[in-house]
Amino acid sequence: MTALIDTLRRIVGEPHVLTDGDLTAWEQDWRRRTRGKALAVVRPASTQQVADVVKACVAAGHSIVPQGGNTGLSVGGVPDGSGTQVVLSLSRMQAVRALDGDNLTVTVEAGCVLQTLQETAEKAGFLFPLSLAAEGSCTIGGNLATNAGGTQVVRYGNTRELCLGLEVVTPTGEIWDGLTGLRKDNTGYDLRDLYIGSEGTLGIITAATMKLYPEPAARLTAWAAVPSLERAVALLGLAHRQLGAGLTGFEVMGQFALSLVGKHMPQLRVPFLGDESAPYCVLLENSDSESEAHARERFEALLEAAFEAGHVSDAVVAENLTQAHQLWHVRESIPLAQAEEGLNIKHDISIAVSRIPAFVAYADEVLQREIEGVRLVNFGHLGDGNLHYNVQAPAGADGKAFLRDQEDKVNTLVYDAVAKFDGSISAEHGVGSLKVDKLEKHKSPVALELMRSVKRALDPAGTFNPGRVVRT
Ligand SMILES: Cc1cc2nc3c(=O)[nH]c(=O)nc-3n(C[C@H](O)[C@H](O)[C@H](O)COP(=O)(O)OP(=O)(O)OC[C@H]3O[C@@H](n4cnc5c(N)ncnc54)[C@H](O)[C@@H]3O)c2cc1C
Repeated sequence: MTALIDTLRRIVGEPHVLTDGDLTAWEQDWRRRTRGKALAVVRPASTQQVADVVKACVAAGHSIVPQGGNTGLSVGGVPDGSGTQVVLSLSRMQAVRALDGDNLTVTVEAGCVLQTLQETAEKAGFLFPLSLAAEGSCTIGGNLATNAGGTQVVRYGNTRELCLGLEVVTPTGEIWDGLTGLRKDNTGYDLRDLYIGSEGTLGIITAATMKLYPEPAARLTAWAAVPSLERAVALLGLAHRQLGAGLTGFEVMGQFALSLVGKHMPQLRVPFLGDESAPYCVLLENSDSESEAHARERFEALLEAAFEAGHVSDAVVAENLTQAHQLWHVRESIPLAQAEEGLNIKHDISIAVSRIPAFVAYADEVLQREIEGVRLVNFGHLGDGNLHYNVQAPAGADGKAFLRDQEDKVNTLVYDAVAKFDGSISAEHGVGSLKVDKLEKHKSPVALELMRSVKRALDPAGTFNPGRVVRT
């Protein structure tokens, strides 16, 4: 064991192999629900160093947990409790290697923080559209490994759709240079797509070539009160028809979710809070390539049509960027407000947009019938059919006891409802170690066996993130 630590120190330098002191930042997951124990945290500075670290760990028989910003919500990026796993942190690999304006691409190292990539693109006059509340800490490597979604998927797709090429270190320590900026490349199996979303179980992503877009001339945000979830879906259809590719964000928030923001963040102004005629509010974003005046005109036409059709009972359009940021801030504050309210049970699910109202009616009814007083925090990326359908203990109840007694039951009720509506139990957060059992229940046996075959073929020794996503 000491021999391995010595070798790792020789490869990356002594200060970058951490074994003592407070390793909480690497050993504990973001929600602080799981804490593991690492043999060491290793921070290589180059792809070659990553490859050398992998070879050293394989030779010594130790498995590796790749880690980016450690903001993942499925407990995939922290070590288990054995004290034998090496955490390989990409935090020192942050360079922007190249930006090709004519090809609309940027090549960055995996440890580059998402916000840094957004700012780099902006400085060069482009847009890198991936956007999520953890963007100040999460990394592009982690985004790719989890195929992160976020708030712009309705227009630009998940991280997968934004990636053209990858550089990956394999479980035997080889380097695959697939950093192509090609938009068309049909030369056999798509290895890039195999690695994206593999949550560190097949390879370590060390760099990526990502797509850039022209900066829109204007972005406008509106907040609408809607009389029902059915009307929210109708509003989405109208927005697609009237705004076309201009529709870049469409989020839904239930009144209970908003009431938690009102309660725990009283400094924030929450439009239509407590409006009984509006059980849901919708946040819409319209990006326009012409001008702000043109964007405003089209947005106003959309909202007018939505009022007339009865899809919207009231709405505000942000006057400027500050107001737009304030509205987005309310939406992004829901998870924190929920945490303030107490321990809760999270679900990141997707259902075909057209079936969401029926799913929510069904799941609400089942949960309220089975668990008296349960409180449902429902919000999410309705434009992508992705809900964060979360469950909070009854008012005044002890959150810890609620989780101990009810978590399994709640998860079973919610995931069975998801299955009944042909949805997915993990829309954008991945499987990690949290949902391995659930995946075994809900994924088809054929799909599971194919996934196991891929894992066995690419990582026969089980070096990368063993036991996560699929058990072999
Ligand atoms: C407040 C908050 C809001 C969030 N909102 C969203 C959201 O809207 N949409 C969304 O999709 N997610 C969201 N997330 C989840 C999280 O931010 C994303 O999953 C993000 O992509 C994780 O990136 P990371 O760098 O923190 O990865 P980590 O947490 O470090 O790792 C996540 C997984 O990827 C693997 N991994 C990390 N880096 C690499 C690499 N270089 N090579 C191979 N494997 C690697 C890890 O082993 C682990 O399995 C949110 C999280 C928080 C805390």
